[in-house]
Amino acid sequence: MPLLNRLGLGSGRNAAVESGFPVARGAAWPSPAEIWPAPSPGKQKTGLLPACANPCCSSGWLHLLRSRETPVFEGGWCCSPECTLERVKAALRREMDARGALRETHRHRIPLGLAMLEQGWITQQELRAALAAQRAAGRGRLGEWLIRQKSASEEMVTRALGLQWGCPVLRMESHSPENLTVLLPRFFVDAFGALPLRVAAGRILYLGFEDRVDPALALAVERVTGLRVEVGLVEGSQFRPAHGRALEAPYPSAELIEAATEEALASALARAIEEWRAVEARLVRIHDCFWLRIWRRRQAGPLPEPASVRDLIASTAVE
Ligand SMILES: [Zn+2]
Repeated sequence: MPLLNRLGLGSGRNAAVESGFPVARGAAWPSPAEIWPAPSPGKQKTGLLPACANPCCSSGWLHLLRSRETPVFEGGWCCSPECTLERVKAALRREMDARGALRETHRHRIPLGLAMLEQGWITQQELRAALAAQRAAGRGRLGEWLIRQKSASEEMVTRALGLQWGCPVLRMESHSPENLTVLLPRFFVDAFGALPLRVAAGRILYLGFEDRVDPALALAVERVTGLRVEVGLVEGSQFRPAHGRALEAPYPSAELIEAATEEALASALARAIEEWRAVEARLVRIHDCFWLRIWRRRQAGPLPEPASVRDLIASTAVE
């Protein structure tokens, strides 16, 4: 199936939300503040010879003759296109392995109606009426029916969803989605219903969702951006217009890669890293996508210059 359909709009929102994290938080890579604007490893030649990051590099002393300073992949300089490819292959295998472990985790969530009943926010009669209306209509979420029947306010339903997901309710105040679209590809904002809300103290990204949080996406964004990601829910009437505006805003250039095999995918990603002379590139997996972000220039802060980053997105449905 073409990736666009797989990502696709509507269905992605309902993609199984995985709970738990495949990789220890904060263990992956240094934060941008530590990396940028530090010089790339290839530049650190004062007295010390640069070492190729490919543990199986066979170029030996030959790499000293190479004058290139890029690319850098996941913090390590690659002396040749062959070494870049080897490192991308290893990263792809790492992400594939993490997928198996993640699928097994499943957390039970208390039903929304029950959570609200327990809090005393609705009565049994109100819950029964909303469930009956939902059943009769054959559509709509329970929370929407409770609001429509004036049994609960939108604020209460969002608070109950927060209890259900174990996350806070976030406010939209002074939100400008246009400024944060550099943090993740439009495809993910659209398909996974995420909305970057703000970056606090240059270190923490608040990522909002309307009715279900997506820990897998949050972890991926954390690993790529180096920002700590805090997820939360936003009231629907505030979320939907802001999400719409975010989808209209410009994003860094992104490319969808269709590759039939893991080998072909690794080649395509490694080629992009080489061609773009990445000063840094990072690969993560989100649900059934791989996301490679390439930085072409060192960055002065947590929000990269849009023209200096490029995203590649590929399906994990490779053999
Ligand atoms: Zn090498």
